[in-house]
Amino acid sequence: MRTQRQVVDYSLQKRAVLRDVHNGKIGTLEVCDASPYLKSAARFHGEPTEERCPICRRDNLTLVHYIYGDELKQTAGQARKLSELPVLAMTLREFQVYVVEVCQSCAWNHLTEQYLLGRDALTADELDRDEAVAASSAAGRHREPGLMSHGWDAR
Ligand SMILES: [Zn+2]
Repeated sequence: MRTQRQVVDYSLQKRAVLRDVHNGKIGTLEVCDASPYLKSAARFHGEPTEERCPICRRDNLTLVHYIYGDELKQTAGQARKLSELPVLAMTLREFQVYVVEVCQSCAWNHLTEQYLLGRDALTADELDRDEAVAASSAAGRHREPGLMSHGWDAR
């Protein structure tokens, strides 16, 4: 997504947890503890993936996107469909997205990544674009006959 920033990837932590599960240091019950809320969020708002559950290998993982931020008011902490995020990113200045992978068979769940979305990033882009437009129209003026040497190299 265009406004995505400050991405934190938790795949190393996930690998460490899975290693401990395979070593028997952590029981599967400890990591397959998705709450009924998380499971229903996966069912109703989840994004299906092609990735098999690393624990039970019976089902593909589902990604659930939770959103947080002051601007969200009472809807903070809710799960949203991935397709809803670009719309929110256009209307809100900044909000945090937490992506949790869930297996709907065995209840394995793990935070996979977090990032910021929102118009704050776009504003910076748009400022850049405005400056570029201003610069090129200024350059256009300098291309008028007799003004070629004026200011063109000054930047
Ligand atoms: Zn599973």
